Amino acid sequence: MLGVPYLLRSELRATCEVCKAQFDPGVGGYCLRCNRLLCERHFHGGRWQRLWRSVRGTTVCRECGPTPDSLR
Ligand SMILES: [Zn+2]
Ligand SMILES: [Zn+2]
Repeated sequence: MLGVPYLLRSELRATCEVCKAQFDPGVGGYCLRCNRLLCERHFHGGRWQRLWRSVRGTTVCRECGPTPDSLR
């Protein structure tokens, strides 16, 4: 598994590929569609979107997946 060395560190910190911020992998997400590891803000878009996605089991980021608004 080359290419994701940041996941192998003893202290689990991931780097957002959008804002380059270090974050806890547990609060962010890995988008299976654009293959990016994103922080909570860039993956989910916000607290409510995160809650919604956790219910839906979404594994794509907010840019690739449907938004709650689009499903109305
Ligand atoms: Zn970010
Ligand atoms: Zn994506």
